[in-house]
Amino acid sequence: MNARFWILPAAFCLVLSAVDFTAEGKRWWSHIEYLASDELQGRNTGSEGHLKAARYVAGEFERSGLKPAGTSGYFQPVKFDVKQIVEDQSTLALVIGGKPKPLALGDDATLSMRGDIQEDTEAKAVFAGYGLKIPEKNYDDLAGLDLKGRIVVFLSGGPSSIPGPLKSHYSSAGERWKYLKAAGAIGTATIQNPKSMDIPWARARLARTMPSMSLADPALDDSKGLRLSITINPERADRFFEGTGHTIAEILAAADSDKPLPRFPLAASVIAHLKMKQSQVESQNVAGMLPGADPKLKNEYVVLTAHLDHVGVGQPINGDSIYNGAMDDASGIASILEIARLIHESNAKLRRSVVFLAVTGEEKGLQGSRYFNAHPTVNEKSIVADINLDMFLPLHALHYIEVQGLAESTLGDDIRTVAKEAGVDVQADKEPQRNLFIRSDQYSFIRKGVPALAFKFGYLPGSAEEKLHKEWLKNRYHAPSDDLNQPVDKTAAAQFNQIILNLAERVANANARPQWKPDSFFRRFASGS
Ligand SMILES: [Zn+2]
Repeated sequence: MNARFWILPAAFCLVLSAVDFTAEGKRWWSHIEYLASDELQGRNTGSEGHLKAARYVAGEFERSGLKPAGTSGYFQPVKFDVKQIVEDQSTLALVIGGKPKPLALGDDATLSMRGDIQEDTEAKAVFAGYGLKIPEKNYDDLAGLDLKGRIVVFLSGGPSSIPGPLKSHYSSAGERWKYLKAAGAIGTATIQNPKSMDIPWARARLARTMPSMSLADPALDDSKGLRLSITINPERADRFFEGTGHTIAEILAAADSDKPLPRFPLAASVIAHLKMKQSQVESQNVAGMLPGADPKLKNEYVVLTAHLDHVGVGQPINGDSIYNGAMDDASGIASILEIARLIHESNAKLRRSVVFLAVTGEEKGLQGSRYFNAHPTVNEKSIVADINLDMFLPLHALHYIEVQGLAESTLGDDIRTVAKEAGVDVQADKEPQRNLFIRSDQYSFIRKGVPALAFKFGYLPGSAEEKLHKEWLKNRYHAPSDDLNQPVDKTAAAQFNQIILNLAERVANANARPQWKPDSFFRRFASGS
């Protein structure tokens, strides 16, 4: 296949035509050049830079002939509660045999502000394996443990016997907390398995004083009762296990060889005193609609999502403190803008309506998409699919598309078809332990019963491309170097955009709306199935 010119399948154009993907790739990149510029200061939720980005997207939507589909023109305003730790006035310690042993915030552990965080907490702690309860697999790490009033310490991940999407669902912060809270717990302490840490501790610790944000609407708070939330540096986790006879090395070895994890009360209790600043901000979802042409099907909506926000300005790395978020996720926003433009310019008449949705607050825990699904600007029951583009990483030529949710719904068959027509192979999620299916905005739609997909550039295990992805995560993911000065295969990005466009058109024009597969776990969220 020629990298510069790709022959489109005849099904999508009456006249066989060639698309200049090099030119398309440059157009795609031009959006990123603005959205990820230093001027926009990393587009933090509720910031001036985010508002500029929102205005840019609304302008592009208008240029592409989309109708405003927010509550205030293209905008859907979203209010957030903001909490930020005052770290130099906060302390965390373990108490063993009556002796307090202070922990160094940033080195030993960090404190999250997400939840009903209280200023003072003192509680016993229990190590509960993966801290998971998965009723349909009769799997219960909490069984037989006294968790009343306790901090639950757990290792991220889960046994390989549990299918990836199911494990991902029950590992989500809200779902996990639901069961821990029901068992009486008042707090959590997470140990990330170093094998599945996207961001090494040395870098992750730099984000600990960034403000956390949650939806101001209390009905949308899924962390009620969470008084204390700790993340433990895996290299220092033995401090928590002192006096128990257990070690982190033993626990990680069990996890890595897929043996059951030990579960035991800790000798140490946890004592925390913390100080935080609180405020409120307003941010924006941006929505535009291409109305469908079919008199009946136009009342159904295919939604294309990407997130507009990134994490803003933070601790400098190599002298740079602007976290530009070029791939995360200016790239996805640029793709939906280009797809809207290409459909507009082709004059294609799609049967269903297509909503292009740039959401806010993704980095704060999928908040903008959650808000949209709680307050949809189109009839909720008529949203038939979500196609989400978040950090699809065009780091090299496009030979494989890795798809999250591939086996869960008929959308998996659709992406297989359009990818095959473009000569690209589809791969299932190769790293289910990273929980990608629940880690971006598609999950807010899935929880409302809407079939959804998300994507990455794929690669073969052991290949040079795999190394590029691993290095990217280690060095650039949520770092200031995810900026405009990085190697990106723009032509491959344009080829990817064309496949997603073909997918959107196929779903919008199909006679039947997408369905969950009969054996999909996520089918339960769809009303009436
Ligand atoms: Zn991100």
